[in-house]
Amino acid sequence: MTSPYCCPNCKTNKTRFNLIAQVPQAVKMDPNTGEIVKEYEDGMLDPFHLPYRGPERKVQCAVCGLIDEEQAFIKRAEYMNKNKL
Ligand SMILES: [Zn+2]
Repeated sequence: MTSPYCCPNCKTNKTRFNLIAQVPQAVKMDPNTGEIVKEYEDGMLDPFHLPYRGPERKVQCAVCGLIDEEQAFIKRAEYMNKNKL
């Protein structure tokens, strides 16, 4: 299902966006060097490693440059539509 967007900052842009896929990479780092010592495969995390639970996608307004969660753009579009009626 798709939903219309409206930028919550400039409030005029409803058509131009950059969609930013969130691609989590689960890693274990060396605490001293920051070097990645292990990369986890999907679903193969160890018991102390929480999986990513953030949004799947972020959105950037291609008019004013605001970056926010997709929900913020959808909510703004719903709000604008409600006020039109
Ligand atoms: Zn904007």
